[in-house]
Amino acid sequence: MPEGHVIHRAAMKHHKAFSSKKLSVSSPQGRFSKGAKLLNKKTCLKVTAYGKHLFYTFENGYHLHIHLGLFGKIRSHKAPPKDPQGQVRVRLFDTSTVVDINGPTICELQDPTDFNKTINKIGPDLLRKDADPQIFVERVKKSKRSIGALLMDQSIIAGIGNIFRAEILWRNRINPDKKGSDLTREDLLNLWKDGQHLLGKALRSGKIITNDAAAFRKKSEHLNIYKKNQCPRCSTQIQSFEIANRTCYFCETCQTTDC
Ligand SMILES: [Zn+2]
Repeated sequence: MPEGHVIHRAAMKHHKAFSSKKLSVSSPQGRFSKGAKLLNKKTCLKVTAYGKHLFYTFENGYHLHIHLGLFGKIRSHKAPPKDPQGQVRVRLFDTSTVVDINGPTICELQDPTDFNKTINKIGPDLLRKDADPQIFVERVKKSKRSIGALLMDQSIIAGIGNIFRAEILWRNRINPDKKGSDLTREDLLNLWKDGQHLLGKALRSGKIITNDAAAFRKKSEHLNIYKKNQCPRCSTQIQSFEIANRTCYFCETCQTTDC
């Protein structure tokens, strides 16, 4: 599943390409034909992201709501449209840009009421300027679940995926198994600020860079412990276990349960 910055980057690019443009909308695969018809030849007003949800808002009040899930993909190319590659659920294009979305978990039309319901269920988003970190802090403080599970719960905090979870907890020396209610408000605000810093960097560069050395510019990822063997801080072997159905990596020396 993509981390939040991937969806926000798509929203930024598509907003630049499509806002105030009349779009051709179709469903080459056929599963979204009915919805596509209602959007076809309508003007797209804006494209926005809330956490990992992408919304294309149209002049007739409908929002095209997309969630890629684990296997969805967004591809774009310059117009004119080429033959669809694979199962393209929805294709949007104007005279210069073509966007194809394959295999999303959610591809639906929402009216303003449904749209508001959806965004109200999404937790504060690290990449949105209107996000309130206190909501994140309060929700975590009330929970007996582990912080490793809470960071992946998009109703608690939006935008963090498996890579950022491991890296942010390691950078802040917090054990992924520690209960939310056992963390201090200061710990949680530090996690928020660090997440905002790292996702912001990824949004600008398109790369996930969580260690502070800048020597790996050509790599798309520059990580400390995610899928690594050894802790770069203390050389302890990195451990892994499952939380929220995804493998979580941590260093048992830097992230002891009592810290
Ligand atoms: Zn370590």
